[in-house]
Amino acid sequence: MAGIYIHIPFCSQRCSYCNFFSVVSINLLNEVIDAIIKEFSIRKDYLKNEPVQTIYFGGGTPSLLTIQQIEKLLNTIYKNFPVEKNAEITFEANPDDLTEKYLSDLKKLGINRLSIGIQSFDDNKLKILNRRHNAFQAVEAVRVAQRSGFNNISIDLIYGLPFQSLIEWENDLDKAFSLPIQHLSAYALTFEEKTLLLKQKEKKLIEPADEELMIKMYELLLNKSNQNGFDAYEISNFSLPEFYSRHNSSYWTQTPYLGIGPSAHSFNGFSRQWNVASIHKYIERIMKNNSFFEQEILSLQDRYNEYVLLGLRTKNGINIDELEQNFGIELKNFCLENIKTFIDNEKVYRYGSFLRLTTAGKLISDTIIAQLMMV
Ligand code: SF4
Repeated sequence: MAGIYIHIPFCSQRCSYCNFFSVVSINLLNEVIDAIIKEFSIRKDYLKNEPVQTIYFGGGTPSLLTIQQIEKLLNTIYKNFPVEKNAEITFEANPDDLTEKYLSDLKKLGINRLSIGIQSFDDNKLKILNRRHNAFQAVEAVRVAQRSGFNNISIDLIYGLPFQSLIEWENDLDKAFSLPIQHLSAYALTFEEKTLLLKQKEKKLIEPADEELMIKMYELLLNKSNQNGFDAYEISNFSLPEFYSRHNSSYWTQTPYLGIGPSAHSFNGFSRQWNVASIHKYIERIMKNNSFFEQEILSLQDRYNEYVLLGLRTKNGINIDELEQNFGIELKNFCLENIKTFIDNEKVYRYGSFLRLTTAGKLISDTIIAQLMMV
Protein backbone atom coordinates (compact mmCIF):
# COMPACT_ATOMS: atom_id res chain seq x y z
CA MET A 1 0.00 0.00 0.00
CA ALA A 2 1.18 3.52 -0.69
CA GLY A 3 0.12 7.16 -0.84
CA ILE A 4 0.74 10.15 -3.09
CA TYR A 5 1.01 13.76 -1.91
CA ILE A 6 0.99 16.68 -4.36
CA HIS A 7 2.22 20.04 -3.04
CA ILE A 8 0.62 23.09 -4.68
CA PRO A 9 2.95 25.89 -3.50
CA PHE A 10 0.79 28.96 -4.12
CA CYS A 11 -1.34 31.12 -1.81
CA SER A 12 -3.27 34.34 -2.40
CA GLN A 13 -1.85 35.85 0.74
CA ARG A 14 0.42 34.82 3.58
CA CYS A 15 -1.28 33.79 6.82
CA SER A 16 0.46 35.29 9.83
CA TYR A 17 1.23 31.94 11.54
CA CYS A 18 2.29 29.89 8.54
CA ASN A 19 5.76 28.86 7.45
CA PHE A 20 4.80 26.18 4.91
CA PHE A 21 6.56 26.52 1.61
CA SER A 22 4.42 28.62 -0.75
CA VAL A 23 4.58 31.87 -2.73
CA VAL A 24 1.91 34.53 -3.12
CA SER A 25 2.23 35.06 -6.86
CA ILE A 26 0.63 32.56 -9.21
CA ASN A 27 2.68 33.71 -12.22
CA LEU A 28 4.45 30.38 -12.51
CA LEU A 29 1.46 28.15 -11.78
CA ASN A 30 1.29 26.61 -15.27
CA GLU A 31 5.04 25.99 -15.33
CA VAL A 32 4.87 24.28 -11.93
CA ILE A 33 2.02 22.05 -13.11
CA ASP A 34 4.06 21.04 -16.16
CA ALA A 35 7.05 20.28 -13.92
CA ILE A 36 4.85 18.28 -11.52
CA ILE A 37 3.53 16.24 -14.43
CA LYS A 38 7.07 15.55 -15.54
CA GLU A 39 8.10 14.64 -11.98
CA PHE A 40 5.33 12.03 -11.87
CA SER A 41 6.73 10.30 -14.91
CA ILE A 42 10.33 10.57 -13.64
CA ARG A 43 9.35 8.97 -10.32
CA LYS A 44 6.76 6.48 -11.44
CA ASP A 45 8.82 3.56 -10.08
CA TYR A 46 9.36 5.08 -6.61
CA LEU A 47 6.42 3.22 -5.07
CA LYS A 48 7.44 -0.06 -6.75
CA ASN A 49 4.00 -0.58 -8.23
CA GLU A 50 2.38 -0.74 -4.77
CA PRO A 51 -1.37 -0.05 -4.97
CA VAL A 52 -2.03 3.62 -4.20
CA GLN A 53 -4.75 3.89 -1.60
CA THR A 54 -4.61 7.62 -0.87
CA ILE A 55 -3.98 10.77 -2.89
CA TYR A 56 -3.67 14.13 -1.14
CA PHE A 57 -3.63 17.60 -2.72
CA GLY A 58 -2.01 19.86 -0.12
CA GLY A 59 -0.25 23.17 -0.03
CA GLY A 60 -0.18 26.05 -0.26
CA THR A 61 -3.67 26.32 -1.63
CA PRO A 62 -4.78 23.58 -4.04
CA SER A 63 -8.13 25.36 -4.46
CA LEU A 64 -6.31 27.98 -6.55
CA LEU A 65 -6.11 25.32 -9.28
CA THR A 66 -8.67 25.22 -12.06
CA ILE A 67 -10.74 22.08 -12.54
CA GLN A 68 -8.84 21.41 -15.79
CA GLN A 69 -5.50 21.57 -13.97
CA ILE A 70 -6.71 19.15 -11.27
CA GLU A 71 -8.04 16.78 -13.92
CA LYS A 72 -4.70 16.87 -15.72
CA LEU A 73 -2.86 16.00 -12.50
CA LEU A 74 -5.23 13.17 -11.63
CA ASN A 75 -5.02 11.71 -15.13
CA THR A 76 -1.22 11.75 -14.86
CA ILE A 77 -1.43 9.85 -11.59
CA TYR A 78 -3.83 7.26 -13.04
CA LYS A 79 -1.54 6.83 -16.05
CA ASN A 80 1.57 6.20 -13.95
CA PHE A 81 0.36 4.43 -10.79
CA PRO A 82 -2.04 1.59 -9.88
CA VAL A 83 -4.62 3.61 -7.94
CA GLU A 84 -7.11 1.53 -5.95
CA LYS A 85 -10.74 1.81 -6.98
CA ASN A 86 -11.86 3.12 -3.59
CA ALA A 87 -8.81 5.33 -2.99
CA GLU A 88 -9.26 8.26 -0.61
CA ILE A 89 -8.65 11.45 -2.60
CA THR A 90 -8.34 14.51 -0.35
CA PHE A 91 -8.33 18.09 -1.53
CA GLU A 92 -7.28 20.98 0.75
CA ALA A 93 -9.26 24.14 0.15
CA ASN A 94 -9.74 27.66 1.40
CA PRO A 95 -13.39 28.37 2.27
CA ASP A 96 -13.71 31.36 -0.07
CA ASP A 97 -12.69 29.28 -3.11
CA LEU A 98 -15.49 26.77 -2.63
CA THR A 99 -18.33 27.78 -4.92
CA GLU A 100 -21.14 25.36 -5.70
CA LYS A 101 -19.86 24.89 -9.26
CA TYR A 102 -16.25 24.27 -8.19
CA LEU A 103 -17.36 21.74 -5.58
CA SER A 104 -19.62 19.81 -7.91
CA ASP A 105 -16.81 19.70 -10.50
CA LEU A 106 -14.38 18.42 -7.85
CA LYS A 107 -16.89 15.71 -6.99
CA LYS A 108 -17.20 14.71 -10.63
CA LEU A 109 -13.41 14.33 -10.82
CA GLY A 110 -13.56 11.74 -8.04
CA ILE A 111 -12.33 13.92 -5.16
CA ASN A 112 -14.06 12.25 -2.20
CA ARG A 113 -12.65 14.08 0.82
CA LEU A 114 -12.34 17.80 1.53
CA SER A 115 -10.05 19.41 4.06
CA ILE A 116 -11.20 23.00 4.59
CA GLY A 117 -8.79 25.44 6.27
CA ILE A 118 -11.15 27.34 8.56
CA GLN A 119 -8.89 27.91 11.61
CA SER A 120 -11.48 30.00 13.51
CA PHE A 121 -15.12 31.04 13.31
CA ASP A 122 -14.32 34.42 14.88
CA ASP A 123 -13.79 37.30 12.43
CA ASN A 124 -11.39 39.12 14.77
CA LYS A 125 -9.21 36.04 15.12
CA LEU A 126 -9.30 35.45 11.36
CA LYS A 127 -7.96 38.98 10.89
CA ILE A 128 -5.12 38.32 13.33
CA LEU A 129 -4.31 35.17 11.38
CA ASN A 130 -4.51 37.17 8.11
CA ARG A 131 -6.88 34.62 6.62
CA ARG A 132 -8.67 35.54 3.39
CA HIS A 133 -12.09 34.35 4.47
CA ASN A 134 -14.54 35.41 7.16
CA ALA A 135 -16.61 33.32 9.55
CA PHE A 136 -19.73 33.44 7.35
CA GLN A 137 -17.78 32.11 4.36
CA ALA A 138 -16.36 29.31 6.52
CA VAL A 139 -19.81 28.11 7.56
CA GLU A 140 -21.16 28.46 4.03
CA ALA A 141 -18.25 26.48 2.57
CA VAL A 142 -19.07 23.46 4.74
CA ARG A 143 -22.80 23.68 4.00
CA VAL A 144 -22.30 24.04 0.25
CA ALA A 145 -19.83 21.16 0.29
CA GLN A 146 -22.43 18.97 1.92
CA ARG A 147 -25.10 20.06 -0.58
CA SER A 148 -22.67 19.23 -3.39
CA GLY A 149 -22.54 15.64 -2.21
CA PHE A 150 -19.42 15.57 -0.04
CA ASN A 151 -19.89 13.29 2.94
CA ASN A 152 -16.30 13.24 4.13
CA ILE A 153 -15.49 16.80 5.18
CA SER A 154 -12.66 17.76 7.49
CA ILE A 155 -12.00 21.22 8.89
CA ASP A 156 -8.89 22.66 10.53
CA LEU A 157 -9.08 24.82 13.64
CA ILE A 158 -6.33 26.46 15.71
CA TYR A 159 -6.52 27.15 19.44
CA GLY A 160 -4.40 29.21 21.78
CA LEU A 161 -4.78 32.21 19.45
CA PRO A 162 -3.70 35.67 20.63
CA PHE A 163 -6.33 37.15 22.94
CA GLN A 164 -8.49 34.00 22.69
CA SER A 165 -10.45 33.09 25.81
CA LEU A 166 -11.64 29.64 26.79
CA ILE A 167 -15.23 30.71 26.02
CA GLU A 168 -14.23 31.84 22.53
CA TRP A 169 -12.56 28.48 21.89
CA GLU A 170 -15.70 26.77 23.15
CA ASN A 171 -17.74 28.84 20.68
CA ASP A 172 -15.46 27.73 17.85
CA LEU A 173 -15.87 24.09 18.84
CA ASP A 174 -19.65 24.38 19.20
CA LYS A 175 -19.88 25.97 15.77
CA ALA A 176 -17.68 23.25 14.27
CA PHE A 177 -19.76 20.42 15.71
CA SER A 178 -23.01 22.07 14.61
CA LEU A 179 -21.87 21.69 10.99
CA PRO A 180 -22.03 18.57 8.81
CA ILE A 181 -18.38 17.61 9.29
CA GLN A 182 -16.98 14.14 9.82
CA HIS A 183 -13.42 15.08 10.79
CA LEU A 184 -11.67 17.81 12.75
CA SER A 185 -7.97 18.63 12.91
CA ALA A 186 -7.29 21.00 15.80
CA TYR A 187 -3.81 22.35 16.43
CA ALA A 188 -2.32 24.42 19.21
CA LEU A 189 -0.89 27.63 17.81
CA THR A 190 2.88 27.54 17.50
CA PHE A 191 5.06 30.53 16.72
CA GLU A 192 7.11 29.42 13.75
CA GLU A 193 10.31 30.98 12.44
CA LYS A 194 9.89 33.78 9.88
CA THR A 195 6.21 34.35 10.57
CA LEU A 196 4.47 37.64 11.24
CA LEU A 197 3.01 36.28 14.47
CA LEU A 198 6.46 35.47 15.83
CA LYS A 199 7.61 39.00 15.05
CA GLN A 200 4.54 40.42 16.78
CA LYS A 201 5.22 38.22 19.78
CA GLU A 202 8.86 39.34 19.94
CA LYS A 203 7.73 42.97 19.82
CA LYS A 204 5.27 42.13 22.61
CA LEU A 205 2.33 43.21 20.44
CA ILE A 206 0.64 39.91 21.22
CA GLU A 207 0.82 37.58 24.17
CA PRO A 208 0.91 33.81 23.66
CA ALA A 209 -1.72 31.90 25.63
CA ASP A 210 -0.25 30.62 28.88
CA GLU A 211 0.27 26.92 29.53
CA GLU A 212 -2.64 26.59 31.91
CA LEU A 213 -5.08 28.02 29.36
CA MET A 214 -3.66 25.79 26.62
CA ILE A 215 -4.25 22.73 28.79
CA LYS A 216 -7.84 23.80 29.50
CA MET A 217 -8.41 24.37 25.78
CA TYR A 218 -7.08 20.92 24.92
CA GLU A 219 -9.21 19.30 27.64
CA LEU A 220 -12.25 21.11 26.26
CA LEU A 221 -11.38 19.84 22.78
CA LEU A 222 -11.20 16.26 24.07
CA ASN A 223 -14.51 16.59 25.93
CA LYS A 224 -16.43 18.27 23.11
CA SER A 225 -15.14 15.77 20.56
CA ASN A 226 -16.17 12.92 22.78
CA GLN A 227 -19.65 14.39 23.41
CA ASN A 228 -20.15 14.72 19.67
CA GLY A 229 -19.10 11.14 18.90
CA PHE A 230 -15.71 12.10 17.49
CA ASP A 231 -12.90 9.70 18.21
CA ALA A 232 -9.53 11.20 19.26
CA TYR A 233 -7.58 8.89 16.98
CA GLU A 234 -4.47 11.08 17.08
CA ILE A 235 -3.46 13.92 19.41
CA SER A 236 -4.67 16.61 16.99
CA ASN A 237 -7.14 14.60 14.91
CA PHE A 238 -10.73 13.68 15.68
CA SER A 239 -13.31 11.93 13.55
CA LEU A 240 -16.57 10.08 13.46
CA PRO A 241 -16.04 6.31 13.27
CA GLU A 242 -15.01 5.22 9.75
CA PHE A 243 -13.79 8.72 8.87
CA TYR A 244 -10.17 8.58 10.00
CA SER A 245 -7.92 10.27 7.46
CA ARG A 246 -6.46 7.26 5.69
CA HIS A 247 -3.72 9.43 4.20
CA ASN A 248 -2.53 10.88 7.50
CA SER A 249 -2.88 7.51 9.21
CA SER A 250 -0.51 6.05 6.64
CA TYR A 251 2.13 8.64 7.63
CA TRP A 252 1.80 7.58 11.25
CA THR A 253 2.13 3.90 10.39
CA GLN A 254 5.12 4.59 8.14
CA THR A 255 3.52 3.49 4.89
CA PRO A 256 5.56 4.56 1.85
CA TYR A 257 4.46 7.73 0.11
CA LEU A 258 5.59 9.76 -2.83
CA GLY A 259 5.59 13.55 -2.42
CA ILE A 260 5.51 15.53 -5.65
CA GLY A 261 6.06 19.27 -6.18
CA PRO A 262 8.39 21.92 -4.73
CA SER A 263 9.46 21.11 -1.13
CA ALA A 264 7.43 17.86 -1.02
CA HIS A 265 8.83 14.97 1.05
CA SER A 266 8.82 11.28 0.16
CA PHE A 267 9.41 8.18 2.24
CA ASN A 268 9.96 4.58 1.18
CA GLY A 269 10.60 2.85 4.50
CA PHE A 270 14.39 3.29 4.40
CA SER A 271 15.05 6.81 3.21
CA ARG A 272 13.50 10.25 3.10
CA GLN A 273 13.73 12.58 0.17
CA TRP A 274 12.80 16.25 0.01
CA ASN A 275 12.38 18.29 -3.12
CA VAL A 276 14.03 21.67 -3.48
CA ALA A 277 11.99 24.41 -1.76
CA SER A 278 12.17 26.96 -4.55
CA ILE A 279 9.73 27.37 -7.43
CA HIS A 280 12.39 28.52 -9.90
CA LYS A 281 14.93 25.85 -8.99
CA TYR A 282 12.27 23.14 -9.02
CA ILE A 283 11.05 24.02 -12.52
CA GLU A 284 14.54 24.49 -13.91
CA ARG A 285 15.99 21.29 -12.45
CA ILE A 286 13.05 19.10 -13.44
CA MET A 287 12.92 20.48 -16.96
CA LYS A 288 16.70 20.14 -17.45
CA ASN A 289 16.72 16.63 -15.95
CA ASN A 290 18.96 17.73 -13.09
CA SER A 291 18.75 16.48 -9.52
CA PHE A 292 15.90 18.24 -7.68
CA PHE A 293 15.89 16.55 -4.28
CA GLU A 294 18.08 15.65 -1.35
CA GLN A 295 18.02 12.31 0.38
CA GLU A 296 18.76 10.89 3.79
CA ILE A 297 19.15 7.18 4.43
CA LEU A 298 17.47 6.42 7.74
CA SER A 299 19.49 4.52 10.34
CA LEU A 300 17.87 1.94 12.61
CA GLN A 301 17.88 4.60 15.34
CA ASP A 302 16.19 7.17 13.06
CA ARG A 303 13.49 4.67 12.18
CA TYR A 304 12.96 3.76 15.84
CA ASN A 305 12.63 7.47 16.75
CA GLU A 306 10.06 8.02 14.01
CA TYR A 307 8.11 4.92 14.99
CA VAL A 308 7.87 6.09 18.60
CA LEU A 309 7.30 9.78 17.80
CA LEU A 310 4.46 9.12 15.36
CA GLY A 311 2.99 6.03 17.00
CA LEU A 312 2.66 7.41 20.50
CA ARG A 313 0.57 10.31 19.23
CA THR A 314 -2.05 7.89 17.90
CA LYS A 315 -4.90 6.22 19.74
CA ASN A 316 -3.33 2.80 19.09
CA GLY A 317 -0.02 3.82 20.59
CA ILE A 318 3.13 1.79 20.04
CA ASN A 319 3.25 -1.96 19.87
CA ILE A 320 6.22 -3.26 21.85
CA ASP A 321 6.24 -6.63 20.05
CA GLU A 322 6.46 -4.79 16.74
CA LEU A 323 9.13 -2.54 18.25
CA GLU A 324 11.29 -5.57 19.06
CA GLN A 325 10.62 -7.20 15.69
CA ASN A 326 11.52 -4.07 13.73
CA PHE A 327 14.27 -2.54 15.85
CA GLY A 328 15.64 -5.28 18.10
CA ILE A 329 15.64 -6.06 21.81
CA GLU A 330 18.02 -3.25 22.79
CA LEU A 331 15.83 -0.44 21.48
CA LYS A 332 12.76 -2.12 22.90
CA ASN A 333 14.39 -2.24 26.34
CA PHE A 334 15.54 1.37 25.97
CA CYS A 335 11.94 2.36 25.31
CA LEU A 336 10.55 0.32 28.22
CA GLU A 337 13.11 1.70 30.66
CA ASN A 338 12.43 5.29 29.70
CA ILE A 339 8.67 5.00 29.70
CA LYS A 340 8.48 3.30 33.09
CA THR A 341 8.13 6.53 35.14
CA PHE A 342 5.31 7.69 32.90
CA ILE A 343 3.50 4.39 33.39
CA ASP A 344 3.97 4.71 37.17
CA ASN A 345 2.61 8.29 37.03
CA GLU A 346 -0.39 7.20 34.95
CA LYS A 347 0.62 9.25 31.91
CA VAL A 348 1.00 6.07 29.84
CA TYR A 349 -0.83 2.77 30.17
CA ARG A 350 -0.25 -0.70 28.85
CA TYR A 351 -2.96 -2.42 26.83
CA GLY A 352 -1.81 -5.90 25.83
CA SER A 353 1.36 -5.28 23.86
CA PHE A 354 0.48 -1.62 23.27
CA LEU A 355 1.71 1.46 25.15
CA ARG A 356 -0.78 4.31 24.99
CA LEU A 357 -1.04 7.84 26.35
CA THR A 358 -3.66 8.51 29.01
CA THR A 359 -5.53 11.83 28.83
CA ALA A 360 -3.04 13.29 31.31
CA GLY A 361 -0.25 11.90 29.13
CA LYS A 362 -1.61 13.64 26.04
CA LEU A 363 -1.18 16.95 27.83
CA ILE A 364 2.56 16.33 28.17
CA SER A 365 3.08 14.21 25.06
CA ASP A 366 6.10 16.25 23.87
CA THR A 367 7.91 15.63 27.17
CA ILE A 368 7.18 11.90 27.07
CA ILE A 369 8.21 11.52 23.45
CA ALA A 370 11.43 13.51 24.03
CA GLN A 371 12.32 11.08 26.82
CA LEU A 372 11.93 8.09 24.49
CA MET A 373 14.09 9.45 21.71
CA MET A 374 17.43 7.75 21.12
CA VAL A 375 19.94 10.54 20.44
S1 SF4 B 1 -1.94 28.55 6.07
FE1 SF4 B 1 -2.40 27.69 4.07
S2 SF4 B 1 -3.31 29.41 2.94
FE2 SF4 B 1 -2.25 30.31 4.68
S3 SF4 B 1 -0.20 30.85 3.91
FE3 SF4 B 1 -0.08 28.80 4.83
S4 SF4 B 1 -0.37 27.37 3.16
FE4 SF4 B 1 -1.11 29.39 2.48
